[in-house]
Amino acid sequence: MSHWLCVLVQTPAHAAMGSVLSYRSESALPSGTLVRVPLGSRETLGVVWDVESAQATGEFDPAKIRSVAGTLEGIAPLSATWQQLVTFTANYYQRSLGEVALAALPPQLRELSPAQVQRRLKRSKPTTAPAVTNAGDSGLPRPNHASGPSLTAEQTAALDQIESQPGPFLLFGATGSGKTEVYLQAVQTLLSASPQAQALIMVPEINLTPQLEARFKARFAPLYGDDAVVSLHSGMTNPQRLKSWLAAHSGQARMVLGTRMAVFASLPHLRLIVVDEEHDPSYKSSEGARYSARDLAVYRGRLENAKVLLGSATPSLESWHHSRPAEAGGRYLRIAMPSRIGTLPPGPNNEATRAHQTTRTNAGTPDGLPLVRRVDMNHQPRNAVFSIPLLEAIKERVARGEQSMVFLNRRGYAPVLHCTDCGWKSECPHCSAFRVFHKIDRTLRCHHCGFTERVPRACPSCGNPDIAPLGRGTERLEEHLAELLADVRRPHTISAEFPEGEPVRVARIDADTTRLKGELQSQLAAVHAGDVDVLVGTQMIAKGHDFRRITLVAAVNPDGALFSSDFRAPERLFGLLMQAGGRAGRDANLGERSEVWIQTFQPAHALYAALKRHDYPAFANAQLRERLQAGLPPFTAQALVRAEARDQEAAQAFLNAASASAHNEMAQWEGWATVLDQITLYPAVPMSIQRVANVERAQMLVESPSRNALQQFLSAWQSVLHTTRKQPVGKGLFRWAIDVDPLAI
Ligand code: ADP
Ligand code: ZN
Ligand code: ZN
Repeated sequence: MSHWLCVLVQTPAHAAMGSVLSYRSESALPSGTLVRVPLGSRETLGVVWDVESAQATGEFDPAKIRSVAGTLEGIAPLSATWQQLVTFTANYYQRSLGEVALAALPPQLRELSPAQVQRRLKRSKPTTAPAVTNAGDSGLPRPNHASGPSLTAEQTAALDQIESQPGPFLLFGATGSGKTEVYLQAVQTLLSASPQAQALIMVPEINLTPQLEARFKARFAPLYGDDAVVSLHSGMTNPQRLKSWLAAHSGQARMVLGTRMAVFASLPHLRLIVVDEEHDPSYKSSEGARYSARDLAVYRGRLENAKVLLGSATPSLESWHHSRPAEAGGRYLRIAMPSRIGTLPPGPNNEATRAHQTTRTNAGTPDGLPLVRRVDMNHQPRNAVFSIPLLEAIKERVARGEQSMVFLNRRGYAPVLHCTDCGWKSECPHCSAFRVFHKIDRTLRCHHCGFTERVPRACPSCGNPDIAPLGRGTERLEEHLAELLADVRRPHTISAEFPEGEPVRVARIDADTTRLKGELQSQLAAVHAGDVDVLVGTQMIAKGHDFRRITLVAAVNPDGALFSSDFRAPERLFGLLMQAGGRAGRDANLGERSEVWIQTFQPAHALYAALKRHDYPAFANAQLRERLQAGLPPFTAQALVRAEARDQEAAQAFLNAASASAHNEMAQWEGWATVLDQITLYPAVPMSIQRVANVERAQMLVESPSRNALQQFLSAWQSVLHTTRKQPVGKGLFRWAIDVDPLAI
């Protein structure tokens, strides 16, 4: 007897046939089974899906239904909750089920035949049995902490909350307050309480996974074996990814560490999800289904009855708002850890600890956090890049053998090259943007489309040989700083060859210096080894890396974000400066004299004032008040529809036509007037970088005070967008896509 199955496959976006197809099978395969199915002239990977929830979108002509080609035996069907996660993601982010489901599986599964998968499975059977399974420990109130340091009072209090409350939790802990140790302990409690339980720990960047993996392996490999910890991120090769995925899916891996894609890992016994640096924009995908892994983690936690722990020193305003007191409607439990490790004596909470904490707080820099200094650039020589006091402070560090970090959020030598005679500028011929001057290889490079050319000898427009850089990026900053410090010597390196000491070593880390695999690691290692005195870089160096000997962090020109048209820019700037400050003085002995320098023309700005007090709550609450008044997220729900076309008019015309249909047609639909009343559709506008690689881009903002209404509207509006595309007004349109909860508008 043969059975009808619904199978999810990956079809081209917006393909007419949809992504849920019907197949025939000799046996009844449970939902979640991985299969190979014929699709056109090829064979592809598919996931059997619940017939109820997935209405097959393809034509149903029994005579044409083809048979499933094979099952990936040995791989258990994906769980019902995993399927629900995929369904939710597809619905919420307005993408097809097939696209989301297949993108959530390791790419190599798509390429392998059932027989090849069998061979992989045999090979990846655990070689060493876990040393201890301590299944019998579940009666203990708390596992022994023998393998970690003795906890601070703040850490103990945090763990008590995490154990006794359902969550989700927002762990609001200063950098260096021991958040990672809390994650480790929470995982340990969980793993020792149940022999199967699994934990998922996410970090925003691939670069941060090796150091996290090292810490987890050091702690847990002795207890649960080497195979208990696996990583999952896009920096891995496809075979490695498949191996990790299978280990997680089979339950053999107890801990999965990964970037945003790991939120879709199949974890049959998931009990805890940690999202470290939860505020980081990297958790939002910027292509395909534009999901937020942080938000999905919270959803998945509820779905699977797993605890969710979000951690940050500067939480996103969304999470901050969600963690307001429960009486005020908060849904997350906020746990604060304000003190840096090393500034409080470890051990149980006692009077001495608290008294110590109070005096520190009253003393200006609370709890060993660095001193924030604002340099008023209005009183510095015009066009000075480095103010005199900052330069002096850097020289002092050099004299003491300490390190400094200077950051500027713009790479390259100069953002524009221009002709002083005729006004020519280094525009990209394919984009509405300037090409950046990279001095090291004398190129003009477009950071949007990649178009690269040698720097012309003379102005292409008037022949003037005098074309000059305008503005500055990290490359020029590094060069400039090296010049300014050229005469400075390192007093600790006096030798026969260098009677006054060796010269200062200035280095740079940014996307340009770390293009090749392994370069970032080796450059970071050089900083750690003390081979660098002054490090120049982009925000890349401000994130997560644990530089112990840096005692000065300087933001050379951060004011731009104060006046940005992007309402999230101040939030990002504050987070970045706090993070950067968190890099300073991680070494407890140096913490006392660590400083964060901010060069600004707005020294009295409230953002910098709050930063000086290390007062994230004051900053966040002020921002939230502004957002409430302006009707911005998290007080409204937003979505963007982006359109790309041959010309700007076509892109905008498509969006405006779809908008008009919403007003004219959808309003006629039974019962839709009340939904539409809650929706605001703004006119289509060009995107801020309007043209990239000769494609014109426009966007339209959709807003609603009700997330539900917005969801309902978007789901229905999809079909309107599809229809609009087929009409004459859709001519010239290349593609369109919806971004729900967009991060950049
Ligand atoms: P965060 O993640 O909040 O930045 P970490 O967990 O990395 O902080 O802790 C900062 C440093 O303090 C690390 O070197 C860590 O090993 C150490 N540490 C954490 N907790 C303790 C503790 N209870 N006692 C001593 N050292 C600790
Ligand atoms: Zn010219
Ligand atoms: Zn370009």
